[in-house]
Amino acid sequence: MTDRNQTLFERAKTLIPGGVNSPVRAFKAVGGTPRFVQRAQGAYFWDANEQRYIDYIGSWGPMILGHGHPAVLEAVQQAALEGFSFGAPTEREIELAEELVKLVPSLEMVRLVSSGTEAGMSAIRLARGATGRKKIIKFEGCYHGHADALLVKAGSGLATFGNPTSAGVPPEVVQDTLVLEYNNLEQLEAAFAEHGAAVACLMIEPIAGNMNFVRASVPFMTRCRELCSQHGALLVFDEVMTGLRVGLGSAQGHYASLIPGFEPDMTVLGKVIGGGMPLAAFGGKRAVMELLAPLGAVYQAGTLSGNPVATACGLATLRELQKPGFYEALSARTQRLVAGLTEAAHGAGIPFCGDSQGGMFGFFFMDQLPQNYARVMTTDGARFNRFYHGMLERGVYFAPALYEAGFVSSAHSDADIEATVAAAREVFAQL
Ligand code: PMP
Repeated sequence: MTDRNQTLFERAKTLIPGGVNSPVRAFKAVGGTPRFVQRAQGAYFWDANEQRYIDYIGSWGPMILGHGHPAVLEAVQQAALEGFSFGAPTEREIELAEELVKLVPSLEMVRLVSSGTEAGMSAIRLARGATGRKKIIKFEGCYHGHADALLVKAGSGLATFGNPTSAGVPPEVVQDTLVLEYNNLEQLEAAFAEHGAAVACLMIEPIAGNMNFVRASVPFMTRCRELCSQHGALLVFDEVMTGLRVGLGSAQGHYASLIPGFEPDMTVLGKVIGGGMPLAAFGGKRAVMELLAPLGAVYQAGTLSGNPVATACGLATLRELQKPGFYEALSARTQRLVAGLTEAAHGAGIPFCGDSQGGMFGFFFMDQLPQNYARVMTTDGARFNRFYHGMLERGVYFAPALYEAGFVSSAHSDADIEATVAAAREVFAQL
């Protein structure tokens, strides 16, 4: 039988760099042929060979209701009939803003954009505009989109400014980006002691999903908040992945339940809030948000911002999430997946651990959950790749790289989880 995925990949590579429109899709880390998706429904998608997969990526997070949820589909179809894009304000943008402000505790105002990259980049410009400062703090292993100033890794030594991780980013563009180790209190203290008065914002993935799944510890998050407040820097939560994914109150709601009175100053959202359509947002306190154009001097704009079809999709998705018991069921199922995989691995004598919050999870071929990027990257990559392909052959689609988180949707059934664990048992036995 001809492999249509392979045929399509070859064709794509002649026209699209690497055959893909976003690098991780190319399977470079795990090797092999990317699956070209034909269609998807519920917890599954079908590739170009009509092979079915249980989908634990869900478009890298947005598809929290699974694919083709009837209520969302209906809302999108209706919106499409009314018009694709106007470049003028609509009522649905207000409704979506109302929902976000209601659900995400720290938000007073939001602006809608089309991608997480755009939202993160705009949040940083606003933080710099609001504080009149230049420097930003980020953490190794956190991804905030591909804006130039954020494509940076730590320099050598403690609390130094970073080096670009991409060609085409001039060193001057990242010279104000300080890159620290995640969960490292000492580096955090040192950075603020030396540069505090110049720091516009500290941007963090509160539960990092771009180095697999790593939580910021409570003492670390507490100190991030205190130091930002003491030094007049804004604490920016990048909740593009965690927003409405780890719980209705997002990661900030989770940390507020552990740290009394906890709130970030600004929040960046994406993925789930658009339900699979290009939609993202950034927001925060009124006084800061009103510095944006047209009211203030910080410029930001977008032809497709607040797109009417995307807002319809996002609103319909947010409505479903608020039904009683939604996150309880999602969390329980995700926990069952992680527990099942862990038990299966241990049964085969393989070091393994995992963690989850709401519908987001990660797992590692190691005994203890890692606390930072360097530890994550000590994972046995060859073993991960063999596991990955074993699961893929058995119709289970995990993220094709060991530094990515996974996602469970409300469409995943107990039977899907059991089938996944059964497949993993077979694969672990061969590792
Ligand atoms: N921030 C985080 C935490 C993300 O996970 C991502 C995307 N994976 C982004 C920002 C960038 O979002 P987008 O891909 O929509 O530009």
